[in-house]
Amino acid sequence: MPARLMKPHILVEDIPPEGLSVHYDDLSGILKDMEDIKTSGPVVGTASLTRMGDQVYLAGNVEARLTLSCDRCLEDFFAEISTSFTYLFAPASVEEPAERAMRIEDVELAQYDGIHIPTAHVFREQILLNIPERKLCSDTCKGICPNCGANLNRETCTCTHKDPDSAFAVLESLKKTSVPH
Ligand SMILES: [Zn+2]
Ligand SMILES: [Zn+2]
Repeated sequence: MPARLMKPHILVEDIPPEGLSVHYDDLSGILKDMEDIKTSGPVVGTASLTRMGDQVYLAGNVEARLTLSCDRCLEDFFAEISTSFTYLFAPASVEEPAERAMRIEDVELAQYDGIHIPTAHVFREQILLNIPERKLCSDTCKGICPNCGANLNRETCTCTHKDPDSAFAVLESLKKTSVPH
């Protein structure tokens, strides 16, 4: 079944009985509204859709190269996202049927309007799910000096770094308060 270039959503009535494969060469527009996420290359998505009665099974993958900003040093860095996923869409009008209460491993259960499968939304959701909550340019990123703003990955500064919560700082303050009288 040849891959076809399609719009960012699929009309369920266009899915033939043997299923439908779709391929998107560049979906970078789906992240346009995200202020802290920039794409630095095409966002490529593929999906195959199969109808099962009024439910639609979607198996796909998405690959993206993003420019993110490091939470510690605030510098931009590249992150590659490559992920596979499966969804089972049921019409929103259907009450939870008993068989769907049984969660299928690794299948996202979702609802659709009974007409369109929002493929672009699926790709977007999967990219966002795969961006780590704590975005770091490297696990060993030293961050920026809170005092002078120097990027400590590139330079050292002469500020003394005192973490107010560190055991050392607590000892220091104890020493100060226990001056003999
Ligand atoms: Zn960093
Ligand atoms: Zn400093």
